[in-house]
Amino acid sequence: METPTDPTPISHRISEGLSRVAMAIRSDEWTKAEATGLKPTQLAILDYLVGRKEAARVKEIAAHLGVSQPTATDSVAALERKGFVEKTSAAGDKRAAAIGITSAGRDALQAVGAVEDAATAAARTLPAQEQQDLLMSLVKIIRHLQEADAIPIQRMCATCRYFRPYQHKGAAKPHHCDFVNAAFGQSEFRIDCRDHETADPATRAATWDAFQEG
Ligand code: SF4
Repeated sequence: METPTDPTPISHRISEGLSRVAMAIRSDEWTKAEATGLKPTQLAILDYLVGRKEAARVKEIAAHLGVSQPTATDSVAALERKGFVEKTSAAGDKRAAAIGITSAGRDALQAVGAVEDAATAAARTLPAQEQQDLLMSLVKIIRHLQEADAIPIQRMCATCRYFRPYQHKGAAKPHHCDFVNAAFGQSEFRIDCRDHETADPATRAATWDAFQEG
């Protein structure tokens, strides 16, 4: 039996803790999805499509969600039957199909987005500095998972071509986003930004080094 004097490594217990938080998030996702008659993957697809400037190919959707292409295809077909997405031409290739969200899909997403989930409510109970520290720790863990190819590249500042870490050294908002041309601080670091555009590998590595060095 595991006791306080004979614990598993802290890294293992952090992973256990994240798994418990993920359990609450999954439960919330099911509740939200069921309220709109959808599955969590279908809801995640709507969330991905809503902020995009252009329609997305199925392989892009699958890569973003970390699911297989057949799973993404099935989910897109179900959403299309409900009128939440529609097929259109891919940007730059009129013969290729791409998926765009409809106004009915936007309405469905807006309806579930108004409900605060349990994990967000729990995170809000932490003091501001603890929230910021936790956010930065999660960024580092997510970045490591990306580098290890355990998850696809996420739409976070650390991998974005618009991110300029510590461009305003010493300021309360030290970082800069070239997309909106504005400074921002650690607590405003984005994990899933709809304006994100993935930087090339060399830029990503250089940006991360600059971010780490501070
Ligand atoms: S566009 Fe979004 S992800 Fe990119 S740097 Fe700006 S806020 Fe961050």
